[in-house]
Amino acid sequence: MEATMIALFFDDSLTVRQMAKPKAHTGEALIRVHSAGICNTDLEIIKGYIPGFKGIPGHEFVGEVVSSPDRATIGHRVTGEINGACNSCDMCRAGLQRHCPDRTVLGIINRDGAFAEYLTLPAENVVRIPDAIEDRQAVLIEPLAAACAILEQVAVGPDQSVLLIGDGKLAILIGWVLQATGCRLTAVGKHSHKLSLLSRAGIETVPLDRFKASRFDMVVEASGNPRGLAMALEAVRPRGTVVLKSTYADATSFDQARVVVDEITIKGSRCGRFEDAIRFIHNHKPPLERLITAEYPLRNGIEAFRHAQEHDSLKIVLNAGS
Ligand SMILES: [Zn+2]
Ligand SMILES: [Zn+2]
Repeated sequence: MEATMIALFFDDSLTVRQMAKPKAHTGEALIRVHSAGICNTDLEIIKGYIPGFKGIPGHEFVGEVVSSPDRATIGHRVTGEINGACNSCDMCRAGLQRHCPDRTVLGIINRDGAFAEYLTLPAENVVRIPDAIEDRQAVLIEPLAAACAILEQVAVGPDQSVLLIGDGKLAILIGWVLQATGCRLTAVGKHSHKLSLLSRAGIETVPLDRFKASRFDMVVEASGNPRGLAMALEAVRPRGTVVLKSTYADATSFDQARVVVDEITIKGSRCGRFEDAIRFIHNHKPPLERLITAEYPLRNGIEAFRHAQEHDSLKIVLNAGS
């Protein structure tokens, strides 16, 4: 096997490099990457918004296990939970490994990621992909799990009115997940062709310039824009819930009096469970491939990142080994 590999490396700027192949430490699996998706977090990394990260970004991937202490996974198609936990702190013991204070996060905190031909991950994080799920769908399991996390955190059902703010790739996944609960869902966004992916699923969509706030039981802010938070607070009913899926590069001010006076719950929401995402794909067959705008070979990663930053792009996928 080759001792080097191609990878995208961020160190003030993003470059394509020939690098040493990673070595699996004790308890880790070595995975040959097939494909990896570019997420907004990756775009923030290359803008330098995630302090202290130097290395290979990328955390949404499909690959094949080359070596692992869990021999049953070797040779299988897999993806992986991105948070590497210590397994001994209070959070970990409570089953909240995604919140371990000492965690590594694939391609985000202290661990090289998936924009490479190979990556390593704790063997326990590796999740086998059922044969019925193709690579082009499986590459979206991680963001789909993040969408499913909302249902792990708040009860959503047919008697509720829900507003989704945003029409990017994560927002669309959230829309599909919420729609499956039977709630009365309205989505508001700026881009008609992105909104059409939601309206095709039977979701009521409204262009941002025509939106008039009424009072929703729950508002999910997934626009990535701090104005989305202000809008969410205007659109939620008293005692309602705002779920925040977006992170903003800068500190954000918002109308906290509204939160206090109307007793609004604000829920932060990040990563979800992969098993929930795989079950969702199995039960609801969301048209995940429609989210993929373009695919590039890994060596053309810089061009792929440029494409990912264009306003009408959804998911851009990098294929290693091509
Ligand atoms: Zn992501
Ligand atoms: Zn821990």
